[in-house]
Amino acid sequence: MHVMVLGAGLAGVTSAWYLNKAGFDVTVVERQSAPAMETSFANGGQISVSHPEPWANPSAPMTVLRWLGNDAAPLRFRPRADWRQWLWSAAFLRECLPWRTHRNTAAIAALARYSREQLRQLRDETGIDYRYQQRGILHLFFGTGAATEARHRAAALARLGITAEACDRDRALAIEPALAHLAQPPAGALFAPDDESGDAHAFVAALGEFLAKRGVQFRYDTGIERIVREGGRVSGLEVVLADGTRDLLEANAYVLCMGSYSPRLVAPLGEYLPVYPVKGYSVTLPVIDPARCPDVSLTDEARRIVCSRFGDRFRVAGTAELNGYDLNIDAARCQNLIDWTQRNFPGATDPAGAVPWCGLRPSTPSNRPLIGKGKMINLYYNTGHGSLGWTLACGSAAALADLMSGTPPRPDFPFLGSRFD
Ligand SMILES: Cc1cc2nc3c(=O)[nH]c(=O)nc-3n(C[C@H](O)[C@H](O)[C@H](O)COP(=O)(O)OP(=O)(O)OC[C@H]3O[C@@H](n4cnc5c(N)ncnc54)[C@H](O)[C@@H]3O)c2cc1C
Repeated sequence: MHVMVLGAGLAGVTSAWYLNKAGFDVTVVERQSAPAMETSFANGGQISVSHPEPWANPSAPMTVLRWLGNDAAPLRFRPRADWRQWLWSAAFLRECLPWRTHRNTAAIAALARYSREQLRQLRDETGIDYRYQQRGILHLFFGTGAATEARHRAAALARLGITAEACDRDRALAIEPALAHLAQPPAGALFAPDDESGDAHAFVAALGEFLAKRGVQFRYDTGIERIVREGGRVSGLEVVLADGTRDLLEANAYVLCMGSYSPRLVAPLGEYLPVYPVKGYSVTLPVIDPARCPDVSLTDEARRIVCSRFGDRFRVAGTAELNGYDLNIDAARCQNLIDWTQRNFPGATDPAGAVPWCGLRPSTPSNRPLIGKGKMINLYYNTGHGSLGWTLACGSAAALADLMSGTPPRPDFPFLGSRFD
């Protein structure tokens, strides 16, 4: 059976890997001239199984209100005359109900645990190199109640089968000595030793090359304009090539992995996908003093900033902006990330060499990705991974390949079509 995967980001290329392994004949269609050039290009690098809590949680509405109008806040909501933004925001508020948050957290944790396991297996099977570190993730908490919060989080994670240790300042310093220069010492920390980090772009590029050698076709510079339907099934993709010529690509089944652009393609088919772009920023800095630069991936829980070390480069990422498909880089946002790095790890990196970037997280109100089959007989989804697309990539794609092969996927997760809502 010939499967066409739409999009060559983390979701698309991992889908191609598991579908190829399951015996499908796979073609990947991508508008860019290389894989992972959009949201999967320069993310925070964390395989963060220890962060399954969705953004939509009981404290989120107050936090959003507190930050409203503050341009430097980690989260910025820019109201637009766009019904999709308002519908998404209303659904987000609904997901903040405690029982929904609880249920979403459990589902994400199950998929994340499975995903980390799949990633390790993929690494063993392919031997690909993407500057990964198996040194865990250290979450830093600040302010009053921080130590208690770390302890509560550790206990909650344990209930979800995720190992994490609440630590004091000395223990945090022993885990990551570069914290010695932190501007403000953390009042508490949480260490998830099984978490990892790695360069998502390098991963997707290397996996793409590996797959091309195994016979997977990659059609780059091919913009998908329209899904052509015949009754209840997809009969082809109308595409535009780099030279402007049009073509019709056909397969037996199709997997939509177009990140934030996924809903646009299926809207004409009468399918509404609750995926909205949430913009985030990163800066990548050259490391000039390795001893002062953290090796362990960190999360500053107060400022919602994450950082990961990729050899001689240091990636710092954060901020969330609900502002449609705008991809302009706000220099002030990037400067905040550079300042954070300079303040906490002085002398570790060269700010003059900072490379700014922004991307659109394909976010669902619940933070749960959409995996499985929609209304059309031969159209599948693997999209909407939001802030956890790197963490969940391998598990989502492995589960999708299972669903398409008629095998029940392992994680206890509400795949599309299951009765969850
Ligand atoms: C600042 C930031 C930090 C992040 N940090 C982390 C982190 O630390 N850990 C983590 O787990 N996740 C993180 N994420 C989230 C993660 O990066 C995303 O969830 C993930 O990259 C989404 O992958 P994707 O394949 O769904 O989308 P994309 O990478 O955007 O891939 C979609 C592909 O579809 C293609 N496409 C779109 N439209 C068309 C069309 N019409 N025709 C042809 N091709 C098309 C695009 O070119 C693109 O290549 C972060 C995100 C951001 C923005």
